[in-house]
Amino acid sequence: MSFINNWLRADIQAINAYHVPTSVDMVKLDAMESPFPLPDELIGQYLAYLADADLNRYPNPSADELRQTLRELMDIPAEFGVLLGNGSDELIQLLALACETGDTILSIEPSFVMYGMIAKFTRLNYQGVNLDGNFEIDLSATLSAIETHKPKLIFIAYPNNPTGNAFDRGAIETIITSTEAMVVLDEAYYAYADDSFLMDIAKYPNLVLLRTVSKIGFAGLRLGLLIGAQDTVSELDKLRLPYNINTLTQVSANFLLQEKGEIDKNAKAILAERSNLSTALSGIDGLSVYPSQANFILFKAPGANALFEALKTQGVLIKNLSSAPNLDNCLRVTVGSMEENALFISIVKAYYD
Ligand SMILES: *Cc1c(COP(=O)(O)O)cnc(C)c1O
Repeated sequence: MSFINNWLRADIQAINAYHVPTSVDMVKLDAMESPFPLPDELIGQYLAYLADADLNRYPNPSADELRQTLRELMDIPAEFGVLLGNGSDELIQLLALACETGDTILSIEPSFVMYGMIAKFTRLNYQGVNLDGNFEIDLSATLSAIETHKPKLIFIAYPNNPTGNAFDRGAIETIITSTEAMVVLDEAYYAYADDSFLMDIAKYPNLVLLRTVSKIGFAGLRLGLLIGAQDTVSELDKLRLPYNINTLTQVSANFLLQEKGEIDKNAKAILAERSNLSTALSGIDGLSVYPSQANFILFKAPGANALFEALKTQGVLIKNLSSAPNLDNCLRVTVGSMEENALFISIVKAYYD
């Protein structure tokens, strides 16, 4: 037996690592990235800004300027606290670290896989509750799971990944008010959604929000935020590793996230493309297309595995969910640029012709 097999926790040995497929030279429509690069006219200014960074020094520990920039970008009221993470993934982990041995994390399924993975890493119990046939929250099943398992943390992605829909607001409010758990609404896709629970933080002390800049054009920065009541944020901040937001991210985000006009324009373009992509997919015989409030579309395709492979062979990478529970024959495509989407659609059309 090798050293590491002998040494490592058995439950970690048994895990399949989070798999990131190779995408060199492919049209990448698998990970909800923005297709829009930094505009040329900003590059010079950006580089000048970067040149000023003191890389011999540790970063600003509380990233004050960046938090202010994010408050302005996302209209976060001054009375709420903001905690930054190296991606919102790090904040999911931080919340799990705040739990006690024996505590339970509850989430709905299918949803973002990191909730379950991080529960496992941190040795917490994990309880999933299935969505109903329309990917809507099954309120009675959820409430009864809350009653039975008394979770400490409840994660709900709003809008949900990978289904793309935003759940019924009333159902979420009922969940928030019928539990002592901290309810974490993960608004990674807030920029593409019709509704948000941001202002509800003032009403519900057990509600916190997660957001990220990954889905609005800056996945490479690794920057997420938790928004909650000030006292909640100050206590959770004790669990944050010092300097978790590196200087290059702070400096870059401070500059890039000031470009609210550009960010809004890109989000609008994605919304228009989402609508075109959805219409085009719906027009292909045999496909069922689910409604989306995010920058991706889930659809069901006969022989999804083979379609996925055909796309890959022709240089287009999407996400194959067809073997995931309750996602039979489902594929998820990120809304890309007009050209990328047209290429994707032309391959799918030709495949079924
Ligand atoms: C993409 C995604 C995240 C990850 O965000 P990062 O800030 O890139 O770590 C979190 N939650 C959901 C629901 C996502 O889809």
